[in-house]
Amino acid sequence: MFANAWTLMRIRGIPIRLHVSLLLVLPFLAYTVATNQLPMILRAAHVPPDALTLPAGVLGSIVAVGLFVGIALHELGHALVAMRQGGTVKSITLMVLGGVAQIDHEAATPRQQATMAFAGPLVSLVLAGVSIALSRVDALFLDLRAGLFIFGGMNLALAIFNLVPAYPLDGGRILRALLSTRMPQLRATRLSASVGRVLALTGAGFALMHGDPMLLLVSVFVFMGASADEAATTMRLGLTGLRARQAMGRRVASVDPGRPLSTVARHMLFQGASAAIVRDERGVRGVLSVRDVQRGPSKAAGEVLKGEPIWAHVDDELSEVVARVQKSTQSGAIVVDDMNTIVGVVTYEDLARVMALRGAADVPGSVPVEPTVPLRQDAPR
Ligand SMILES: [Zn+2]
Repeated sequence: MFANAWTLMRIRGIPIRLHVSLLLVLPFLAYTVATNQLPMILRAAHVPPDALTLPAGVLGSIVAVGLFVGIALHELGHALVAMRQGGTVKSITLMVLGGVAQIDHEAATPRQQATMAFAGPLVSLVLAGVSIALSRVDALFLDLRAGLFIFGGMNLALAIFNLVPAYPLDGGRILRALLSTRMPQLRATRLSASVGRVLALTGAGFALMHGDPMLLLVSVFVFMGASADEAATTMRLGLTGLRARQAMGRRVASVDPGRPLSTVARHMLFQGASAAIVRDERGVRGVLSVRDVQRGPSKAAGEVLKGEPIWAHVDDELSEVVARVQKSTQSGAIVVDDMNTIVGVVTYEDLARVMALRGAADVPGSVPVEPTVPLRQDAPR
């Protein structure tokens, strides 16, 4: 998912990856810390600057690297709890704005969600407490004490920042878990995302008034993250428990690859079709959705198609079918029955309809499938 990253090491099988953006920013961060922040930090640590034996530049670099060690351990906290709950962790990538753990896991209960969200800040809080306590030990070198104090302070800041209830930050995820105990998860997600956006806008306003570029960047990141995460969760929750047959369009036009899109659209209108299957003498080439046929009237159907067709069975989990389509370059999946006969097509446009119905029907969990639904129902006479 994140190109331009190198694997540094593996911890419990999880690759810890370093994004190229970080390598570009680390020297800058080290320099800023050494020249601007270090004197202030040392005063707070009760360490006289001239008592240090290490040059400020070296300390600055250690601080910069320490920040990302802290972020890596924070993400590892999330990752280990996710693994304990039965999830898999693909990687942890360290980037400019922090770390991203790619976790393949949907925490089932609000309690599990909250535990997973709190695990990261908890690691940061423990690191902060231990480091700051050690920095008070008189027997240690002053340089080490200053370093420990700085490391502790950074982890404390990391914990506090992540506990702000601005979804998708950890605090926002905890808020969502708390809300999910009182309302459906979809509403809890929407509400938390709205709170996240309001907090992000407040942060951005504050950043603009005080000329703080870092806070502005973080606010924009939170705002976009809230909306993206809300959309992904809405989609996932809206589709779980549904089968391909409940979403597929049953009227599908059949065209050959040489046909211009205007003709394909005319065929679809004439037949009341929601999608078109493109086929030639070698067989099925793929699916065109309504959106595809809008891509220029004189373009040929075969020109618009890319990649191999995606197939699904009528009883396949809809969310799995969608995941397959999302990974492909096609706009939909062709649905077949037990006899391997094509009975419909699922496109992104069908998903919008199904999710709207799901929201209006207000049925959580799995939606029962009528076992005897005729696949090609004729209009009543
Ligand atoms: Zn976190």
